[in-house]
Amino acid sequence: MRNGQTHLFIPGPTNIPEAVRQAMNVPMQDMRAPDFGDLTLPLFPGLKKVFKTDSRVFMFPGSGTGAWEAAISNTLNTGDKVLMSRFGQFSHLWVDMCERLGLDVVCIDVDWGKGVPLDEYAKVLEADKTHEIKAVFATQNETATGVTSDIAGVRQVLNALDHPALLFVDGVSSIASIDFRMDEWGIDLAVAGSQKGFMMPAGLSMLGVSEKALEAHKSGRMARCYFSFEDMLKMNDDGYFPYTPPTQLFYGLKKSLELMEEEGLENIFARHNRLAEGVRCAIAAWEGCRLCADDTKWHSDTVSAIVVPEDVDAKDVLSIGYHKYRTSFGAGLARLSGKVFRIGHLGDLNEVMCLAALGAAEISLYEAGAHIELGSGVAAAQAHFAGTAGASMKIAAE
Ligand SMILES: *Cc1c(COP(=O)(O)O)cnc(C)c1O
Repeated sequence: MRNGQTHLFIPGPTNIPEAVRQAMNVPMQDMRAPDFGDLTLPLFPGLKKVFKTDSRVFMFPGSGTGAWEAAISNTLNTGDKVLMSRFGQFSHLWVDMCERLGLDVVCIDVDWGKGVPLDEYAKVLEADKTHEIKAVFATQNETATGVTSDIAGVRQVLNALDHPALLFVDGVSSIASIDFRMDEWGIDLAVAGSQKGFMMPAGLSMLGVSEKALEAHKSGRMARCYFSFEDMLKMNDDGYFPYTPPTQLFYGLKKSLELMEEEGLENIFARHNRLAEGVRCAIAAWEGCRLCADDTKWHSDTVSAIVVPEDVDAKDVLSIGYHKYRTSFGAGLARLSGKVFRIGHLGDLNEVMCLAALGAAEISLYEAGAHIELGSGVAAAQAHFAGTAGASMKIAAE
């Protein structure tokens, strides 16, 4: 039975703007045609603007995980020592990939609810006098816990010690949604995927690569083939790809970049912050619930992971939301299963969509046995939205 819309409030794939969906509805075309570059070439400067880099951006057919692998396999050598931290399922998976690709991983485990441990990084890097550590990894936005880390801070740590390690940043759930400055923060490899802030289907992974990383690529000996920078470099400048590219996704990206340009990156960040604040007000109003992020400095503007009361099973909240209210929330991942559900508030989203998400979350929590007052979260978010001017309202008024 279909009665009205289903609702998607997971932190990726996110809601796709109608204009982007329409833009992808095109007939197939020849990816070796002489004018194929008319479509593809403008995408590179468009992406560079979003990454805030003057260096290189690659696009691989694949999900964000593919860009992780591309970053590693193109710039490092088997056995290289790398510094990482783990504080949620996504940072965990990145560590796992590095280990499986044969890197010598120094991993700092942090409580799930906190982010990249700058002091610990500084200690490890300071002790590394011979610069054995070739790369430092940081997950800017841990999507499993709703924790945002200080990437400029990681750069400062490296600079203060004059440490030459490459800086890898997972920006899959942050780039195009919250502040990200590849060049200014001295990021060497910046990983993104199409189905989060870029408001597109999954299938395109984007990777920002600094000049220094391109240099490292020349001596990197790890086996690579599908994700080879070299093959991309040979073809990209003419607008072509070493294998069949996802043409429809390029049309989608073209439209999504246009929408971002129209709204303005800073307005996009402000909108995400405003919507996230509304969600956080609601969570604060729900008796017995709290954010997984354990300090305001970690609060993510793209996803909120909500710890439910002890006597409530978060899986029930998800199930009631999905089956009874046709609304999807993000599940609690790995050790957070049953304890946490997540509201994704990134991409193509506005106040009323957030209120709908909160209304559905609230009734699902209530029916799952949480002793919260119906309407309390929605009212708190409404009060926040009513009491603050919105970037999106300003655009609508213009
Ligand atoms: C979604 C996500 C990934 C994985 O991306 P896929 O597109 O599913 O491969 C990696 N890191 C973070 C932070 C994410 O949010």
